[in-house]
Parts: sequence; structure tokens; C-alpha cells
Amino acid sequence: MNIDLQEISTLIKNKLGDYSFDGSVITSDEGIVLESADGIARIGGLPSAMLGEMIEFPSQKFGIVLNLEFDEVVVIILGKHTDVKEGSWARCTNRIMQVPVGKNLLGRVVNAIGDPIDGLGPINSDTFRPIENVVPGVIDRAPVDTPLQTGYKIIDALVPIGRGQRELIVGDRQTGKTTIAVDTIINQKDTGVISIYVAIGQKSSAIVDVVNILKAANAFDNTIVIDASANDPAAMQYLAPFSGVAIAEEFMYTYHKDVLIIYDDLTKHANAYRTLSLLLQRPPGREAYPGDIFYLHSRLLERAAKLNDKWGGGSITALPIIETQKGDISTYIPTNVISITDGQIFLQTDLFYSGFKPAINAGISVSRVGGKAQIKAMQQLSGKLRLELARYKEKESFASFSSELDAATAKQLKSGRILTEILKQDKHAPLPVEKQIISIFLVAGECLIDINIEDTKDVEEFVLDSIEKEYPEILEIIRIEKKLSEEFKTNLKNIIQSIVAKFQSEKTKVL
Ligand code: ATP
Ligand code: MG
Repeated sequence: MNIDLQEISTLIKNKLGDYSFDGSVITSDEGIVLESADGIARIGGLPSAMLGEMIEFPSQKFGIVLNLEFDEVVVIILGKHTDVKEGSWARCTNRIMQVPVGKNLLGRVVNAIGDPIDGLGPINSDTFRPIENVVPGVIDRAPVDTPLQTGYKIIDALVPIGRGQRELIVGDRQTGKTTIAVDTIINQKDTGVISIYVAIGQKSSAIVDVVNILKAANAFDNTIVIDASANDPAAMQYLAPFSGVAIAEEFMYTYHKDVLIIYDDLTKHANAYRTLSLLLQRPPGREAYPGDIFYLHSRLLERAAKLNDKWGGGSITALPIIETQKGDISTYIPTNVISITDGQIFLQTDLFYSGFKPAINAGISVSRVGGKAQIKAMQQLSGKLRLELARYKEKESFASFSSELDAATAKQLKSGRILTEILKQDKHAPLPVEKQIISIFLVAGECLIDINIEDTKDVEEFVLDSIEKEYPEILEIIRIEKKLSEEFKTNLKNIIQSIVAKFQSEKTKVL
């Protein structure tokens, strides 16, 4: 490397400055920028720098130490790389990178280092948390036992999510991944759960859309959006999820709140980290990702937890999103994140285009812990549902070959088709759990066997409306008791049958 005169003189000056009058050595914490390009600065003369430490540059610019090399320190610059010039000074701050946290951030949009970018003025927060933190150990955690309702029937019934769980949402582009995440935030608006939406490498217009949807649904006051969009430097995209979880941890540890955090998406996060690692000249591994990419995501997702009573409770539920190419989940990043999370929700393009929305393939989607968190009533119904869906899928492929079907098979096929219709759900229309239970009971209790398949959605809406208006006590009982007794089920079936009969007679009147 060419060392210029200015650098040598600064180093000598620093060295001389290391000696005080009594001869003892004072370690220097000021170095010099040797090179600055592509968002990376190489600094000479910072012998005491720590990995992950914040480094200060002139005019209040900062960077983070990512590599400690033999004779220099390599730093990623937070902000525009043109902000840091060769030859300028760089100081140690003795602080690990921190972000502002606390309640003042609620209802705001911030960048990866916690600065507001929504034009609503400064955020007055005097509390900070380091972006890297030790994860809660096994003894500090409690089992996942409380549901985190998404409001989607197919998820809450078949791949339920519990508070403190990590559930991956994975699928090709434009299959409805973001919509599921955003609707889950909307469904939390009256639950006291705080939501954090971390957007990584997305178009700015997509983030504006998310904020507007949340505002329109009155769900933004309990939400924080962290935006490291596609035009932000890779360093900011790499930091964003860590800042997000640091903000979440403040709510969990200090306020004992339940927090939902969404990483949309970790594929782009991995790409940003790959960019940084290649610039840092770390050796590339599979698909050119650095060797520690698995550790990067596991250390992020391990911070999701449900704390035990000794800590005062509180939880962080993480919903990371991964984008696949042509449904291939065997590539490096999807396999990694699948193995770290407690289950995954698979979205498929063909289902999406066949009109089955949300386009979730229930057969290969799983939730390894959420089932324990389902309310009893849902557990009673959902076990049968999964089996029925699997049988239907199997029969469906047979049915397309044979023209003659026996009565039992025909009945099963019809019931499967009705179930498929019931599981479809429009976006931004989350359903409370007691209504979901009624919807699913329509199939599980065989209440719709005589209707036309095309009428399923109309019947469902009619039944839900009628029960809400005429039998509100039914919803109340499910909400309070949380389970369905045999007597209640018989009663419910009778009521539903009378409502369905009313629907049929009104329909013939119209015709
Ligand atoms: P990207 O890969 O671009 O991030 P994505 O997988 O996040 O896409 P979304 O943006 O959530 O997908 O959804 C794609 C489109 O499908 C959007 O126009 C959205 O409104 C629509 N959509 C998603 N879910 C539903 C639904 N349940 N009902 C109707 N439309 C839906
Ligand atoms: Mg998306």
C-alpha cells in the first residue's frame, strides 16, 4: 500500500502525543482515513477499536467497525459514502452502535439508525439500546402459549402463530407476502401488541403504500416503520433489522409488552450483507454469500422470545419474509432461514393466479409451536380440517380422470371445494377468532352440504352477519368460554341451518 506523507506525519504526531510528561503511555483513539470508497472506510491508527464499535468522522458522521485487520480498521459508513474523505480524522467512541428507542417512536417512520424520515419533526427519545444484544437464555424464556391472531382463517386455523414464535413467510414475488404481514399488523390494533415493520431494500413507493394502508385501518398509532429502501446504502440495509429488534426489545424488557416484528425481506438483507462482505474482502462461500450469513440471521431471529414471569413477561414475535425464485426453497438463504424459524407459511404463484388468496399451500406450511397457543375451540375444529383438506387434494386429482363418481366421493369432493372457498379471504379484511370459528364450523359441522358451491362466500357472509345481529351471545360465548361443548355445537348447528335455509329461500325469491 502507498502511504503518503500526510499520513506518516499524522501517525508520528499521534505517536509523539502518546507520551505524557511522566513518560507513561496514553493510547491514541484518533486515527486517519486511509481510503474511502463504496461505503467502506479503511482507517489507520486506531489500536483500541472494538468490533462493532461506532467510529466518529468529521461533521457528525458515523461508521461501524466490521473488520479488525493487522494494521488497519475497516468501517462501514452510515450514510452517503461521499461524507467521509480520505485523510480526515476518525475517532473511537467506545460505544457499540445504538439506536433511539421508546414510546416516542410509535406512529413514526425512521431510517436504519433511528432518525425520523416522515417529516414530522425530531423524535425526542433519551433512551438508547445497542443494536446487538445477548439473546435471552433458555431459563429466561417461557413456552409459547398465547395466540397471535393474523385474522386470516387459513393461518389461524392451520398454521397458527403464537406470541414469541418465529414464523417464516416464504414465496415468489407478488404472491401476497407483504399483504399477510401488513394485515397481521392491522389485526393487532385492539390487542395491545406493538408492531414494527422493517422494510429492507424495497421501493420507497411500496413503503408509502404500507404506511397508507396501516393509517387507513387506524393501525398506525401502535406501529413503527423502519425503512432502509433500495436506494439506501448496503450498510443501512444491513443494519435495519438489528435496529428494529433493538427497538422491539425496549418494549419487551422495559414495558413488558408483546411485540410483533416483520422483516420484509431477509433475502434483500442477505444481499446487502453479501455486498458489504465482498467489499470488505471477506472470502465468499456458497452463492457468494459470506460464511457467517447463517449466524447473521440466527442471531437476529433468536432475539424473538417469550419471557418468563421473572422478567415480567413480554414477547417478540418475528415474521421474517423470504422471496424465492420459481418456488425453489432449496437455495442457500431460504434453507437457512427455514432451519432457524419455528415453521413456515408457503405462498405459491399458481394458487394465487387460480384465485386462491391468500395463496397459502396448507399442505406444506407448518407451525411447530403455534398449535399449543390456539384457543381450544379452534383446536377442536382445525385438526379435522387439515385431514379433510389433504383427502380432498388427493381425491381431486383422481376425480379429474374419472367421469363416474360414487356418492361418498362426490360428497367429499363437494365438501372439499366448499372448504377451499371458505379458506379464501380478501386482503385487509381480518376476521376476529370467534367469527373464524363460525366460518370453519360451517364446513366442520357439515352445514353447507346442500348449497351450490358458487354460493359459499355469500352464505358465509350471510351467516356471519345474521349471527352478529340476531345471536350476538353465540360470539360472546366463544370469546369467553374459548371451547365448544357438545350441547353448544348442536345448538349452533341448528341456528346455522335455519339461517342457511333463510338464505336459500331469499335466493329463490330473488330468482
Ligand atoms: P413482492 O414480491 O413484490 O414484495 P408480495 O409477495 O409481497 O410481492 P403483495 O405485494 O403482498 O405480494 O401482493 C401482491 C398483490 O396481490 C397486491 O396487489 C395485493 O393487493 C394482492 N393481494 C395479496 N393478497 C391478497 C388477497 N388475500 N386478496 C386479494 N388480493 C391480494
Ligand atoms: Mg412484498
